[in-house]
Amino acid sequence: MGNDFKLHVPDTISVLKSLVRDSPSVSIKARDDSPSPPNTTAITLAAFQKIVEYQPEEYTITVEAGAKVSDVISILAEQGQYFPFDPLFIDKDSTIGGIIANGYSGPGANRYGILRDFIIGLSFIDGQGNHIKTGGKVVKNAAGFDIPKLMVGSRGSLGIITESTFKVFPLPQAYKTILFRFDSFEKGHTALLALGRSQFTLDALDLDSKGTLIIRLSGQAASIDTRIQALETMLGSTHDPLSRDKPFWQVPLNLQSYPKTGLLLKIPNSPTAIAEIDAKLAPNCPHRRYSIGGFVSWIYSESEVNDLSQSLKELDLSAQIASGDTLEQVIGTDHPKAFYNRIKQALDPQQKFIALYPKTPSST
Ligand SMILES: Cc1cc2nc3c(=O)[nH]c(=O)nc-3n(C[C@H](O)[C@H](O)[C@H](O)COP(=O)(O)OP(=O)(O)OC[C@H]3O[C@@H](n4cnc5c(N)ncnc54)[C@H](O)[C@@H]3O)c2cc1C
Repeated sequence: MGNDFKLHVPDTISVLKSLVRDSPSVSIKARDDSPSPPNTTAITLAAFQKIVEYQPEEYTITVEAGAKVSDVISILAEQGQYFPFDPLFIDKDSTIGGIIANGYSGPGANRYGILRDFIIGLSFIDGQGNHIKTGGKVVKNAAGFDIPKLMVGSRGSLGIITESTFKVFPLPQAYKTILFRFDSFEKGHTALLALGRSQFTLDALDLDSKGTLIIRLSGQAASIDTRIQALETMLGSTHDPLSRDKPFWQVPLNLQSYPKTGLLLKIPNSPTAIAEIDAKLAPNCPHRRYSIGGFVSWIYSESEVNDLSQSLKELDLSAQIASGDTLEQVIGTDHPKAFYNRIKQALDPQQKFIALYPKTPSST
């Protein structure tokens, strides 16, 4: 999409600021094949890839937004550290700014929290070309209005992220991913709800549409086996090991890569709502995965976007479009966007960045 434009590669913050100030409309393009809307100034942060500061003993890292996620993961791994939220759908081109802007967290968020919880500072260029620095480089930081967290999932609509500080965790000494297969979706769902209420600390707790629970445990190797036995006793079922286990998962299992066709939806929901969601969406959505203890549903469909939006409205849910050939970014129930719109107005009064909810400018 959109090869008839010039891709700008600013190499200093002041050039980046001028580009935003002098352009009527701006989009950020981290990967070659990501869409760039027509008539926008397309900008890449390819020149901003530095590790600004890494203090393993403080468990914090500050990186420029154009840094490749895979490079940062390798640097952390050399010090025995990692991002426990399982950044999703990453490959060699994925950038730090991109994962923050998309705001996807993988199964590992079940135990340690979502991507948003790991950001302790962030810098960005707003719609007027101001370079705003927020948060701090230490884990304990004075309370205040939490702009860093607002940028998570903003998809480039509030500003261009230039740098971010993350807290990071030590890599687990050992880990194991196991499956519990139930003979119906309902039984798997009941087990997921029971585990969510239990004392078990599970790195990951996902459910697929066949009723299989996918669980990752980590810690001391010996303790993992003891905990698996306790899980078997509680669930009244024996586990299957996962043949190709990994310390973390970069795609929700069974969606092996970023889909090139169709629509991939991310739905925030409560774990109890899953049964109704699954029953409603099953006929049109061949891949359904309930992640992060059931708080996030990943749904793949080849249906029309309007039909899916209608089904979501009937469930009183809204979904973020993670991928698909549509300019819509959020579909389903039209939840009030007053807060987002106020932030958008404050940070980008001239609407230089594409809004998340372009169709409802008056819903403040
Ligand atoms: C093969 C493959 C193809 C993919 N294609 C897409 C795709 O077309 N669209 C998509 O959304 N995800 C896509 N993804 C998922 C995406 O790559 C992941 O979420 C990734 O972790 C972050 O994306 P990125 O750095 O490549 O940014 P992009 O995919 O280029 O951008 C993702 C979003 O973030 C915004 N963004 C990027 N950098 C910044 C920044 N510095 N400041 C503010 N906003 C920013 C962009 O405007 C866009 O809205 C793809 C993943 C793979 C593996």
